[in-house]
Amino acid sequence: MTAHPFDRAIVTGGAGFVGSHLCEALLAAGTRVTCLDDLSSGRADHIDHLLGTPGFRFVRHDVTTPWPEPEPWPGDARPGRVLVAHLASAASPVDYHRRPLETLRAGAAGTEHALAAAHKLGGRFLLASTSEVYGDPQVHPQREDYHGDVDPVGPRSCYDEAKRYAEALTTAHRRVHGTDTTIARLFNTYGPRMRPGDGRMVPAFVSQALAGEPITVSGTGTQTRSLCHVDDTVRGLLTLAASGLPGPVNIGNPVERTVREVAELVRDLAGSASEIVAVPAAADDPRRRRPDIGLARHGLGWEPRIGLEDGLRRTLGWFAALQVGVDSAV
Ligand code: NAD
Ligand code: UDP
Repeated sequence: MTAHPFDRAIVTGGAGFVGSHLCEALLAAGTRVTCLDDLSSGRADHIDHLLGTPGFRFVRHDVTTPWPEPEPWPGDARPGRVLVAHLASAASPVDYHRRPLETLRAGAAGTEHALAAAHKLGGRFLLASTSEVYGDPQVHPQREDYHGDVDPVGPRSCYDEAKRYAEALTTAHRRVHGTDTTIARLFNTYGPRMRPGDGRMVPAFVSQALAGEPITVSGTGTQTRSLCHVDDTVRGLLTLAASGLPGPVNIGNPVERTVREVAELVRDLAGSASEIVAVPAAADDPRRRRPDIGLARHGLGWEPRIGLEDGLRRTLGWFAALQVGVDSAV
């Protein structure tokens, strides 16, 4: 894993899909990690295996409310570098449609508390933003200097505008308080620990293919996404955190596929007989999405390493094992 200079980290949303992998990677690099999560879309299961690790603490907390004073770690008197990584937010369309006000608060009050903590601790702040700030992009592929096309009152606005506001807040904090901040714009990330029922494309297709159920492609299936394996995403986040770049920096895999192609690939890799069926198009569904990762490549020396087939095979393996566990527990 990437070498990075942090002695301590606070990871909000650390019991979620990306957050739990980030906690693991930080711990593996010798960083002591405090995970703040309210378990609204995360799972205690994702971090259970970390709870006995001496450098790991879990605090169940809603980050939109005032934060608890951080408990000192043994030997905290020595100076150390701190990372505050703010990932707490609903991320799946199903989750943020269910909790739009909470999602806006996670981007607003949640980001404000996380920035204040980073400032107070003299640490580096990393915002997990999203390609959704580009909305339904009119420019393709998307570079960081494209300002996006977002409908502020559209069905996805609670998420998109929360992240746009979080980016603006981060930028203002840097200007006004001199806080050391950076912004990662994550594109679609997939891998182990996505919730089978969270509604996103990969967990939906993978669980449907493994169960032999119809694979539900929304609309024409010609809309595109670019899928990045979570190990690549986490390496990108840590490389950006360790750099001096203020961001925003796109972190994603530039290989673009239609949603129908992903459905076919998942079915084939699973050796499944599932049929692929069309379901009504999702409202306001972005038609194309692909990152331009020139800045990450040249500014950070980062690029994804895990191809889609390989990554989907690993993800299928994890979901299949989960399924066996569930079946044998019934
Ligand atoms: P996730 O839902 O698995 O994780 C989010 C975590 O945040 C959950 O554990 C949830 O319980 C926690 N959380 C939400 N609101 C909270 C609050 N108020 N207080 C404390 N904890 C709270 O989603 P994910 O896919 O792991 O996404 C993590 C972050 O990365 C999000 O900020 C998301 O916007 C961003 N991101 C993810 C993707 C992706 O494809 N996975 C793409 C772009 C951006
Ligand atoms: N999608 C789909 N079937 C599903 C879930 C999602 O066809 O069961 C489509 C969705 O309409 C979108 C794409 O897959 O076009 C990616 O959706 P996801 O929710 O994973 O991510 P996002 O829309 O946030 O990029």
